[in-house]
Amino acid sequence: MNALAEKYAKIFKLEAQLGYTNRAVYGGMQKLALTLLSDAREAALAETLISEVGAKLKNYEELTTEQRRQSLLEVGKLLGISGIEKLPAAATMQRVSSPADFEIKVQPEKTSQAQPPKRRMSASSRVPAASSVGLDAPVSVIRGIGEKQAANLEKLGVRTIRDLLYLFPRRYEDYSQLKPINQLHYGEEVTIIAKVIDVQVLRPNRGRLMTEVIVSDTTGMLRLLWFNQTYVTRYLKPGIFISISGKVDNYRGRPVLYHPDYEPIDQQQLNTNRIVPIYPLTAQITQRWLRKTQFSVVHYWAERVPDYLPNSLQKLAEVIPLQEALVQIHFPDSQEKIKQAQYRLAFDELFLLQLGVIQQKRQWQGLEGTPYIVEDGWLTERIENLPYALTNAQKRAIAEIRADLASRHPMNRLLQGDVGSGKTIVAVLGMSIVIEGGAQAALMAPTGILAEQHYQTILKLTTQPGRNGTAFLKPNQVRLLTGDTSLAERREILEGLQDGTVKLLVGTHALIEEPVTFQNLQMVVVDEQHRFGVEQRAALRSKGNNPHLLVMTATPIPRSLQLTIFGDLDVSIMDEMPAGRLPVETRIAYPYERQNVYELIEEQVRQGHQAFIIYPLVEQGENEETKAAVEEQQTLQEEVFPHLKVGLVHGRMKPAEKDAVMLAFRNGEYDILVSTSVVEVGVDVPNATVMVIEGADRFGLAQLHQFRGRVGRGEAQSYCILIPEREDVAENERLAAMTRTNDGFELAEEDLRQRGPGDFLGTRQAGLPDLRMANLADIHLLQKARSLAEQVYAADPELGSTEFEPLKAAINQFWPELPGRGEVS
Ligand code: ADP
Ligand code: MG
Repeated sequence: MNALAEKYAKIFKLEAQLGYTNRAVYGGMQKLALTLLSDAREAALAETLISEVGAKLKNYEELTTEQRRQSLLEVGKLLGISGIEKLPAAATMQRVSSPADFEIKVQPEKTSQAQPPKRRMSASSRVPAASSVGLDAPVSVIRGIGEKQAANLEKLGVRTIRDLLYLFPRRYEDYSQLKPINQLHYGEEVTIIAKVIDVQVLRPNRGRLMTEVIVSDTTGMLRLLWFNQTYVTRYLKPGIFISISGKVDNYRGRPVLYHPDYEPIDQQQLNTNRIVPIYPLTAQITQRWLRKTQFSVVHYWAERVPDYLPNSLQKLAEVIPLQEALVQIHFPDSQEKIKQAQYRLAFDELFLLQLGVIQQKRQWQGLEGTPYIVEDGWLTERIENLPYALTNAQKRAIAEIRADLASRHPMNRLLQGDVGSGKTIVAVLGMSIVIEGGAQAALMAPTGILAEQHYQTILKLTTQPGRNGTAFLKPNQVRLLTGDTSLAERREILEGLQDGTVKLLVGTHALIEEPVTFQNLQMVVVDEQHRFGVEQRAALRSKGNNPHLLVMTATPIPRSLQLTIFGDLDVSIMDEMPAGRLPVETRIAYPYERQNVYELIEEQVRQGHQAFIIYPLVEQGENEETKAAVEEQQTLQEEVFPHLKVGLVHGRMKPAEKDAVMLAFRNGEYDILVSTSVVEVGVDVPNATVMVIEGADRFGLAQLHQFRGRVGRGEAQSYCILIPEREDVAENERLAAMTRTNDGFELAEEDLRQRGPGDFLGTRQAGLPDLRMANLADIHLLQKARSLAEQVYAADPELGSTEFEPLKAAINQFWPELPGRGEVS
């Protein structure tokens, strides 16, 4: 094929691949006609032929699919393009777009009158229209990328041209320092321009093959060394000039570059003499090849990515244009430019994240909810009937919930309070308000045993007669529904829910999955749901008839995560413990002090208390962990505490078995409970006063704090003993932090700082889109993104102006699973 044909062949094939839907080129094939014609003139094709081609493409958008096919075939024939039809015309939309990836949707095709049949539109309305010859086109349309390399790239998550643009370097080597040979210093990363003097392959002492190349510039000579890799001699011949980059090392007291990068100096330098990108690689994809490919892709395509941030927003955000960021992130001109590019790309991610989160919040706030209003006197009486005085934090939270319930919009609140801060009663009072108004409420716990425990507490709190002698609810109005509920009881409960007899239902998450019908469910409380993400909550809300939602979590959530994972919720924070609680005393014990720890347990048991021993995380997996815990329990029972009862709970047990052991422990049938880390020790055992954590250095701060929260729930002084795996890790920062403070919030901030959000709560697990550039702990940037996102919605709640069209599309691509996305109401 001639050059012209080659250039257009890929486009035509793509159009065929897309089923002649006029999407291979932004603006349609008719637009392509213009460039094609000027190219054809330049290629000195006959004028008659040119006008014929123009005529064939001019009306392209008005043609039927079959006519389009014919027309492309004919044009192809005129230009000498073959093979247009070889590709099946089957729809390949999934292939050409990859909604799972972070993508910026380009300006969507305008739905003008000229657009042929609506039917065709609807089938692909979510699929971004290809922009100027498809940013969403498969990478195989790029010259130099065949089917094989395309398949290899796919292993890096790259399918489209856009994916390639967003395949960022992992890091950079700074070879921008051009130096003469006589000024090299050991350890420096440098680039030199020099002439190859001598090339030899040696085998010193019958060791590995060594390729030695001597180069020289006007100031001196330098040795380059490769082990094996004799292929470099194919290119490196005496007499040629090259640019060489690497780190100055030492070989027998002389400077040397081991395995340096090199390239001819007359070419565009991608591997030397600049800040060089280091990409993630996979088999068959070399750094050099990828750099070369990226270089041409970036320089052609980056400027064709439309910037979905209007200029005014770019100014406010203080970011560089997207096109520039995309160029600089791959081939930076300076360290400063890398920073600017990273800042822009990170901002984009957090901004899109915030736009989605706030959209959820607004959507929810826009809904109508049933208001529930109670008199002050009513609430005061209920509070006075409690067995204890509420803390100020509890009072504040209740006031906030009461205000939410009284508004005409569904409540959407996160109640955050450290373990033991008394969240349950706050939720109960909230539910009571709704029940007082004649509706029903439900509380969901993550496990059966926690549901059971909540049920017992709530039953007591709501059905005991108050001071005026009457109880708020009757026992048959408060029910528990779990996997263990008998069939007969279940039937009765389901009936009661339907006819309104049951006012308050406690259960597991199965509640929302089961076909449970309520007469009038108006409030849902979700306990300990830090793993429920924005998207899951949205799904939950869409179930009931806009019920009021209260999410409770004991995992202290740093501010940054409040803005993201829980960014769609209002937040109540309970930062105060009920009076009279003694803080848990936390100590680090060296492994050789274990005997003292056992004595402490012994002593506490003698006083009538109980102890937990958490067995450490074992890397080999749950099976190993279980085995280790089983052995530990045996040793403890037989050798250390033969006169006490040592229970065991581990992750391989069935839920019912686990619950049985936990209940037995709570009822005092065991003195000591050995548990693996996989077990959520979520129950309230006020009598337990010792928490021993073996291999403590293997746990994260948040988890250590959760474990510690299992003791100190009663009146007695409690202890948390952290035993590191080995002595030398006793200095572990996390363990030190644990002994320093009991404040879960402080620890959470520390945790996030030490580990980064990926580990703190995996973004996937937290139900957040993948972030490639942004750091969730970057509170400053996060707040900026938040505030700008709020400004955008304030100015244009529907993002309806044309200026925001690309932005709206970008949100949809960033949040592929958000229900009702893009339709702020
Ligand atoms: P969490 O926030 O961990 O869910 P709970 O609601 O289980 O905490 O409360 C922990 C314990 O504290 C329970 O035994 C509860 O009865 C008790 N409690 C709650 N509020 C108070 C209070 N204001 N004064 C004293 N004890 C309280
Ligand atoms: Mg609780």
